[in-house]
Amino acid sequence: MNTVVVVGGGPAGMAAARAAASAGVPVLLIDSAPKLGGQYHRQDHTPGTEAFALPDGVEYLPETVVFAVEPVPGGHRLHLRTGRADGPGRARRRVGTAALVLATGAHDRALPFPGWDLPGVYTAGAAQALAKGQRVAVGNRVVLAGTGPFLLPVAESLIGVGARVLGVLEANDPIRGWFTHPAGLAAGYRKVPELAGYLGSLARHRVPFRPRTTVVAAHGSDRVEAVTTARLTRDWTVVPGSERQVDVDAVCVGFGFTPRLELSVAANCALAGGFVAVDLAQGTSVPGVFAAGELTGIGGAALAADEGEVAGLAAAEAVGADVDVPRSALRRVRAGRRFASGLDSAYPVRLGWKSWLREDTLVCRCEEVGYGELCRAVEQRDARGARSLKLVSRAGLGLCQGRVCGRNVAELTGIPDGAAAFSRRPIAEPVRLGELANLKEDNG
Ligand SMILES: Cc1cc2nc3c(=O)[nH]c(=O)nc-3n(C[C@H](O)[C@H](O)[C@H](O)COP(=O)(O)OP(=O)(O)OC[C@H]3O[C@@H](n4cnc5c(N)ncnc54)[C@H](O)[C@@H]3O)c2cc1C
Repeated sequence: MNTVVVVGGGPAGMAAARAAASAGVPVLLIDSAPKLGGQYHRQDHTPGTEAFALPDGVEYLPETVVFAVEPVPGGHRLHLRTGRADGPGRARRRVGTAALVLATGAHDRALPFPGWDLPGVYTAGAAQALAKGQRVAVGNRVVLAGTGPFLLPVAESLIGVGARVLGVLEANDPIRGWFTHPAGLAAGYRKVPELAGYLGSLARHRVPFRPRTTVVAAHGSDRVEAVTTARLTRDWTVVPGSERQVDVDAVCVGFGFTPRLELSVAANCALAGGFVAVDLAQGTSVPGVFAAGELTGIGGAALAADEGEVAGLAAAEAVGADVDVPRSALRRVRAGRRFASGLDSAYPVRLGWKSWLREDTLVCRCEEVGYGELCRAVEQRDARGARSLKLVSRAGLGLCQGRVCGRNVAELTGIPDGAAAFSRRPIAEPVRLGELANLKEDNG
């Protein structure tokens, strides 16, 4: 029987690997991190400790990146690179599969504002990863700004590693948002104790939570020393006269998440609304390719795991196992998706954020492309597609390959289908030419 290959060792990928193995199918689980868990269950870096066990039948490759996916007759060929991102002795290998589960998760979204390129400005996810993975606080006096419930666990983690959180600034009005989408709110009832825990922690540590407020500028000479906060209207333009300056040594911003679509786009999976489109069994538009977790929508770790279970079973079935996807799992996924769509409606990113920018505000930090330059590329040089805009302005051509700026560039310049346009990367992760030439193992 063919092996099911799962890419991603977060809640979705782990659940997919376990489910496929429970159906008696051999599984290869590939994850770029050194330990299992993904973002939500991020483990600290202590060697020799491992919080998660995998069943027999799962071969697990840690610190292994899938840097390319190639459709071949009867399935897909994956190109892997094993070893530390900057380490010596890395090895390259190829594997083939008829059933592929993509569970590559998301990275967090930052919106640009004047000064966001100063040292000391972090994404909320980076602050969380440092706090959970290394027990390091990004600063002593920290402001958190953005939108979405993710800001709350980040505040708690920062407090837990000794930072003083001066405020959690939520750009939307979540109470109003949730009560206009009661079905989503009801579907998320499993989250209520977690939410109450975070709010209790903010109250105990006297951390103010300010709706309809954000950071619109960061100031400092060689690192951030202060931020300007402001009240926002419903469409996120600044309420005149509401600006305040606050002294900080770090600021964390998080405006939701962007799915890591490179492998799905390379496998030709259709997208819908910026995410991988899936059917009830987590099947994508490409036969034999399944997707689960944040790739298919942002709904949190529990939904990711539920989708992973369904995807793993469906993938096992695709390679010949006799499988019944439990109705309970499908029900949980349906409820989770209602909650995810409630999240999406309660915490939108409103276009008024464009009004925080100045002509010289960098939008693409890797290639140092400013807002004014982007506008001129469109207005004067008629660069209206992702490719022409990249060539004219260089936005999205730097080290991060548009992961940070792509969605923002697309929104600012009106490029349709920005998610796909900036995720088309035949080589998804950096690989050395020597490694390309030196193939250690070829099972594909
Ligand atoms: C930085 C960050 C921190 C977060 N922290 C929290 C938190 O504390 N609490 C919370 O509720 N939510 C958090 N989230 C949201 C979180 O992503 C989800 O709720 C949950 O972890 C999603 O599960 P997933 O399995 O879809 O993806 P993830 O958990 O993101 O797992 C995806 C895995 O795929 C691997 N991967 C990606 N691309 C490749 C590739 N090409 N080759 C091999 N492996 C690959 C990644 O290394 C990762 O281990 C965080 C998100 C981010 C971006």
